[in-house]
Amino acid sequence: MIKKILIANRGEIAVRILRACKDLGIQTVAVHSTADADAMHVRLADESVCVGPPQPRESYLNIPAVISAACISGADAVHPGFGFLSENSTFAYMVEEHGLTFIGPKPEHIAMMGDKIMAKKTAARLGLRTIPGSDGSLSTLDKATKLADEIGYPLLIKAAAGGGGRGMKMAMTKDAFSEAYESVKREAGIAFGNDNVYLEKYLANPRHIEFQIIADKFGNVIHLGERDCSLQRRNQKIWEETPSSVLSSEFREDFGYKVAQAIGELQYLGVGTLEFLYEGGELYFIEMNTRIQVEHPISEMITGVDIVREQILAAAGNELSLSQYDVKFRGHAIECRINAENSETFLPSSGVIKNYHCPGGPGIRVDSALYDGCRVPPYYDSLIAKLIVHANDREQCLARMRRALREYVIEGIDTLIPLHLKLVENSDVIAGDYDIHFLERMLDPASHA
Ligand code: ADP
Repeated sequence: MIKKILIANRGEIAVRILRACKDLGIQTVAVHSTADADAMHVRLADESVCVGPPQPRESYLNIPAVISAACISGADAVHPGFGFLSENSTFAYMVEEHGLTFIGPKPEHIAMMGDKIMAKKTAARLGLRTIPGSDGSLSTLDKATKLADEIGYPLLIKAAAGGGGRGMKMAMTKDAFSEAYESVKREAGIAFGNDNVYLEKYLANPRHIEFQIIADKFGNVIHLGERDCSLQRRNQKIWEETPSSVLSSEFREDFGYKVAQAIGELQYLGVGTLEFLYEGGELYFIEMNTRIQVEHPISEMITGVDIVREQILAAAGNELSLSQYDVKFRGHAIECRINAENSETFLPSSGVIKNYHCPGGPGIRVDSALYDGCRVPPYYDSLIAKLIVHANDREQCLARMRRALREYVIEGIDTLIPLHLKLVENSDVIAGDYDIHFLERMLDPASHA
């Protein structure tokens, strides 16, 4: 059994992992940059190690420093959280090479799904529908242009190594193609060190729907249903909910079974999310995330399963604590991402939190690393808190979310709370009637007229 885990992350996800470790009686080691010496994850951990200066490259992404911290502190496992090194197969491999358990899938599965071209091919082989597009990477502009004509416009040019909403561009017409193609290729080369790109038909009004799975090393795989993450800005999720208002329980059951079967065939280990776009009654695979996701708490709220706990236990070689039959979906859950950003300009905000009051009461969960007087540094992802609400049905959930958002006080920096207050009052959102472009249309009606 694992006795001590080094958490190679910061912020709310580091705190979330710490909590799962403490519930399991596992010792914790936090790593931090010099900018995070007073951070909540450091204060709550049993031990902490400073791994470098504020810039992520020199601290949280610094593989030798993180692995040294794990070895020096006597940890026997490393949890990568999300972002940072979580989808770096070299890191996973090196952790294992040092005799430590990597809390995640095998490095080859991380590498396979980290290459979106390979991920799509694998999904197709496993019987999942994918969005029509190029079969593999495109070597020349000439070949790409011919293929683009066959696929038809509008289409997306996507980087094989893209992620986090980066590394993709739309071409509305043939005239725009070559410039968009060259620019994605160039930017992908610089940002990801891999300039492979592929083409995909652009779906006009889909919803983003993803399935959460958990697998153990004995071949047991369960799914925890779907999450609808269609409310996005610049391809980044802002609000997530489960269940999705467009899937019936029969559809969920059949499709969840199909997804779990596919993952079983892959002999995958741990938690993962298969992402799809939903249009015309069909789900089309777009990618798989081989790590815990930001929005995992909504699935926890409606199933009662502690996903991080199961993830740790699965990595330690245990069998899943429940079967698909034991998974029961109860009520509705919504998560609002509270980013340190201005709700109108979306400019990132940093500084000292002057007054902090968390909402509470029935059905409310706040995952955050904030406290009164803490500093939100400018160097990291803007996600500072997640407000998660659970209720018996969607209507009650929306009412609770409205109440909780009004109670939430975060002073000293700008946040997305005012945007979420608008969303929760919006008649289309209330009706559950939205697609992946809804939020941008709401924010800028003129450009979508
Ligand atoms: P990332 O890894 O950067 O998150 P994804 O492939 O998961 O990239 O796509 C992110 C978002 O971009 C999706 O949730 C969706 O809103 C949009 N998107 C991706 N592929 C398509 C497509 N073929 N047509 C329309 N929108 C798409």
